[in-house]
Amino acid sequence: YGDGVAWFRGVMLGKGSFGSVYLATLKNPRSKYSCLPPFMAVKSAEVSVSGSIQKEKEILSNVKGCPNIIRCYGEETTTGENGTMVYNLLLEYGSGGTLADRIKNSGGKGLSEFDEVRGYTKSLLLGLSYIHEIGYVHCDMKPENILLVHHNRRDGITQFRAKIGDFGLAKREQLSKKRKLEAYWRGTPRYMSPEAVLDNVQDCPSDIWALGCIVLEMLTGKPPWDSDQELTPDDILQKIGPKNEMPKIPNELSKEAKDFLKGCFVRKPRYRLTAEMLLNHPFVEGIVEENN
Ligand code: ADP
Ligand code: MG
Ligand code: MG
Repeated sequence: YGDGVAWFRGVMLGKGSFGSVYLATLKNPRSKYSCLPPFMAVKSAEVSVSGSIQKEKEILSNVKGCPNIIRCYGEETTTGENGTMVYNLLLEYGSGGTLADRIKNSGGKGLSEFDEVRGYTKSLLLGLSYIHEIGYVHCDMKPENILLVHHNRRDGITQFRAKIGDFGLAKREQLSKKRKLEAYWRGTPRYMSPEAVLDNVQDCPSDIWALGCIVLEMLTGKPPWDSDQELTPDDILQKIGPKNEMPKIPNELSKEAKDFLKGCFVRKPRYRLTAEMLLNHPFVEGIVEENN
């Protein structure tokens, strides 16, 4: 491998839409990446499809001041099999896997509201308020794109912190100018907001709708729009858009959780609560985040 980074051969962390993510470590501790933790993730794409991964790196370098966003340490170009050029992003390693894995491991029952959900929610709100404040929209908030990282608290307790990853679909905020979305879906139907489905508008409030979907999924173990019969992406988009349906909020959730979700699932984006407002919600009250 290039300048001082070595693969852990065979350890693949995940497969994405246009490449793979591997676990790697530093070969040369005095290389220019020596500020890295011992492990990191390397997200790779062949150069023929590297355009969007380069944009991803650009955005990641603009949001690196925030501990709730996965860090990008740099990039390297290497030679792949068959002599192809491969573009690699060197990322902070999500040692705890993705939030999707964590929810799956809960056996369909969901995570504990007080031990985990409120903490992850606070992390995600801090990350989103940072991204939105500097004028970006993530556009693909979902559990597969959220990484959990071990964090040793000052009192000695080890916790996971949730960090937002995969900025592959992120873009500059639109500021209410309507613009046609690309022909392909930007994002994942299940987490899409009504305005994205109906008006092709995807701005900061759309990330908040998706956050509501994620919080609901953490609490119940099931993604929104789940039902006994398999729904096609089109069925889901019909429910979100033309049919005016709302994700079901189970009555047995705590009062704070239900109220938080209602703030995320306001159909009109202009009346939806913002990340800044939700940070003051009783659901995340009293949750303290230590800086690394
Ligand atoms: P794509 O844009 O192709 O969806 P992602 O950045 O979401 O790519 O990465 C794909 C998968 O790889 C993730 O869902 C996750 O399982 C794994 N992964 C990505 N980044 C990291 C990381 N920093 N640490 C650990 N695993 C990661
Ligand atoms: Mg992804
Ligand atoms: Mg992506």
